[in-house]
Amino acid sequence: MKTILIIEDEAHIARFIKTAMEQEGYQIFTADSSHRGLIEAATRRPDLLILDLGLPDGDGCDVIADIRTWSSLPILVLSARSDEQDKIKALNLGADDYLVKPFSMGELVARVNAHMRRWQVGYEAPSQIELGNISIDLTQRQVKKNGEDVHLTPIEYRLLTVLIRYTEKVLTHKQLLNEVWGKGHNHQEHYVRIFMSNLRQKLEDNPSRPNYFLTEIGVGYKLHIPKD
Ligand code: CA
Repeated sequence: MKTILIIEDEAHIARFIKTAMEQEGYQIFTADSSHRGLIEAATRRPDLLILDLGLPDGDGCDVIADIRTWSSLPILVLSARSDEQDKIKALNLGADDYLVKPFSMGELVARVNAHMRRWQVGYEAPSQIELGNISIDLTQRQVKKNGEDVHLTPIEYRLLTVLIRYTEKVLTHKQLLNEVWGKGHNHQEHYVRIFMSNLRQKLEDNPSRPNYFLTEIGVGYKLHIPKD
């Protein structure tokens, strides 16, 4: 059974979400503070986290930053704050999605289900990925284009695998820096541009009009797999 941790200090909202998610067949754990939430996250190892940003003992953003040091589980943020900057901050720290209170339960359920599906896909990712004329064998660490081996540097390969893991999800420059280069490279956003350009040069038919390695202007990049 899939499990969800809800970190929310308003008891009636937590209860409301718990009931709706149980009807979807999920097992629910709850925590009403960031301190308790981090303990629950570490011990229960949930499949998804629903996180309120305004918690009595701290900012939910700190919870995201903490959890992202050891887990890439989907984090869906709930907050009364509609400020754009809070959204960007939460997403940059590694949240996957953001709903502003008051939200519709139908929408929350739909998003949770979508994240669960994607996480599952990411988790049991096939070892062989086909992108048009590009084929990637993740167990052999082998990339071919039109049947010919393509040589990628270790960083290029790592960037490629991170994009594959989050297929169709926009990754910010900061997230890519953290995932590919590790913490401490937050100010070197040009790295991402350089290596993304290398990947396009090596893999796209027309690097200036990419089919797969797409730019989300002002935000970051995503790997797109066109439906044929
Ligand atoms: Ca709150």
